[in-house]
Amino acid sequence: MGEKQLSELGKKSVESEFFSPVPDGYRKGKTKYVFITGSVISGIGKGTVTSSIAKLLEERGLKVSPMKAEAYYNVDAGTLNPFRHGEVFVLDDGTETDMDLGSYERFIDGNLTKENYLTTGKILTEILEKERAGKYLGRDVQFIPHVTGETKKYFRKLATDSGADVVLIEIGGTVGDYENMYLLEAARQLRYEEGEENVCFINLTYIFEPKTLGEQKSKAAQLGIKKMIEMGLMPDIVICRSENPVHDTIREKISVFSNVPMNRVIGLHDSKEFYRIPLMLKEEGLDKAIFETLKIDEKKLENNKSLEKWTEAMTVKNPKKTITIGIAGKYTGLKDSYISIIKALEHCEAEFNVKIEVKWIEATEIETGKKKVNEVMKGINGLIVPGGYGKRGAEGKVECIKYCREKNIPFLGICYGLQMALVEFARNVLGKRNANSSEIEFKTEFSVVCLLPEQRKIEGLGGNNRLGGFDIEVKKGTKAFELYGKTKIRERFRHRYECNPEFIKEFEENGMVFSGKAPKVDIMQIIELPKHKFFLGTQFHPEFTSRPLKPSPCFKGLIKSCL
Ligand code: GLN
Repeated sequence: MGEKQLSELGKKSVESEFFSPVPDGYRKGKTKYVFITGSVISGIGKGTVTSSIAKLLEERGLKVSPMKAEAYYNVDAGTLNPFRHGEVFVLDDGTETDMDLGSYERFIDGNLTKENYLTTGKILTEILEKERAGKYLGRDVQFIPHVTGETKKYFRKLATDSGADVVLIEIGGTVGDYENMYLLEAARQLRYEEGEENVCFINLTYIFEPKTLGEQKSKAAQLGIKKMIEMGLMPDIVICRSENPVHDTIREKISVFSNVPMNRVIGLHDSKEFYRIPLMLKEEGLDKAIFETLKIDEKKLENNKSLEKWTEAMTVKNPKKTITIGIAGKYTGLKDSYISIIKALEHCEAEFNVKIEVKWIEATEIETGKKKVNEVMKGINGLIVPGGYGKRGAEGKVECIKYCREKNIPFLGICYGLQMALVEFARNVLGKRNANSSEIEFKTEFSVVCLLPEQRKIEGLGGNNRLGGFDIEVKKGTKAFELYGKTKIRERFRHRYECNPEFIKEFEENGMVFSGKAPKVDIMQIIELPKHKFFLGTQFHPEFTSRPLKPSPCFKGLIKSCL
C-alpha cells in the first residue's frame, strides 16, 4: 500500500469505512515491525525473548524500540497487585508498567517511555474521551476499524517518535485469548498496510515433554499456531520453548503445520544461564531469520561481536565466594514481585564474580511470632528490606532491621525499607516507643514517616504516588557520595510517604546522616549510619536503574561490604 493510499485510510468521516489514522511525520517503510506473540501457555518467557531480540538487533547497529502491548483493562500497572502480576516497574517518566519493561531496559541499557507501554485500558480511555468530544464525527464507534485503528496509530507513533529502525511489539497473553484479539487484529491489518517485508510475526510456543511418555510432543504447539493462522496471522518464525533441546522431528512437524521453513523454526530450551539466552538464540539463527523476513541486508550491518563479549562478561565462572542476602518482604511467595532486585543482585554477581544466594524472609511470619528473628537471620550476610505498601509485615521488617543495626550486618532499605529503618531508629535509639509511619498507624504522636505534602491533595488509589525519575542532591563526605562519586544523581521513585521533617534534627543528633535530599526542598531521600559497616536507606528504588555491566551503586555497596 502506497504512502498516499495509507493517508487516505485516516479519513474520519461517515462516508468512509476506513479508519487508520497515521501520526504526523510518519514515513512508511522507515520502521519495520516485529510482533512477538505467545501460544499454548503463558509464562514461557516472551518478555525475555523480546528483550533478547532487541539485544540481537542492537548489536548489529539497528535502533530498536520495544513495546509491551498488554490486554488488561487497567490503564497502567499502578493498581496491579505484585503478588498476582509481578513487580510494578517504574519508568523515568513516571509510567507504572509491567515488569517486562524492566527487562527491555536492562537488555538494551536505555530508558523507555510511556509510548513503550500500551494497555487496553489506555486505548479505551482515549477512545471514549474522543467519542465524548465528538471526534468520530457521527460515526458508530466500532471494534473494527476504530479500536484497531487507534491501536495501529500507537504502534506507528512509537515508530515515529523513537525513530527506530525496528519496533518490537510483545503482545500480552496467548493467541486465542478474547482479550488480546484486537491487538492481533491490528497487527494483521498493519502487515497489510505496511507490506510483508516490513512486518514480521514471531510465535513463541511450547513443546511439552510429559514425564510419563518421555518424549517431546508438538500437538499443543500445532494447535496454538493453527489458531494464529485462523486469525490471518501467518507466522514467519516459530520459537519452540522446551525443557530439553527440541528434536529435529518436532521442528519438522511444526514446519509442516505452519508453512515456516526449518531454518526459521528455532529451539530454545531451559537454561540456567539467563544471560546466555540472546546468544543461544543467535546461535540458533534467530537474527538471520528476522533479517530474511524483513529483507534486511545483513552484509550492510555492523558486526563487532559485542554480544559475545557481553555474554562472557555476564557469566559467572568459578565464583570466588558465596554470600547469602536476605530479602524481608511480604510477597515472597512470588519471586517476580521483586524481580528488579534479583536482577540487581545478578548484576553484582558478575561485577564481583561471586555467587549470591537469596534467602526469602516472610516478614509476616516474624510479626505473628511463627518465626523468631534470630532464627531467620541465621547465615545471612546482608539484608534488603524492599519497597512495600500497607501494614502487613511492617513489624517483622522493623525487627529484622533492628537485628542488622545492632549486630552490624549490612543493610539496604529501599523505600518502605528506609521508612521502616526510620521507625526502628526512632523507637529504639530515640526512645519513642510508639513511633510509626502514618501509613500504618495514623494517630501516633510520633509519625516519623508521614504523607508528602503534595500527595495529601490527591485522592483515590490509582496514580497518586510520587512517581518517576527525580534528581537527588548527595552530600559530600558520606557513604552515598562514596558510592555514586557525584553530588547530583537521578533515581526513580514510587511513594507517597516521606521522613517527617519535624524529626530530622533529632535523628541527626543521634547519629543518623541524611546524605541525599531533593533539590530545593527538605525531602530526605538517603539515610545512613556512618558508624555501621553498611546501613543505607533510599527513598528511591535503586533496583530500577541497575543494568548488566553497570550494577546500581547501592547494591554494589551492599555486596562489597558483605564480602
Ligand atoms: N508505602 C510507602 C509509601 O507510599 C512505600 C512505597 C514503596 O515502598 N514503594 O511511601
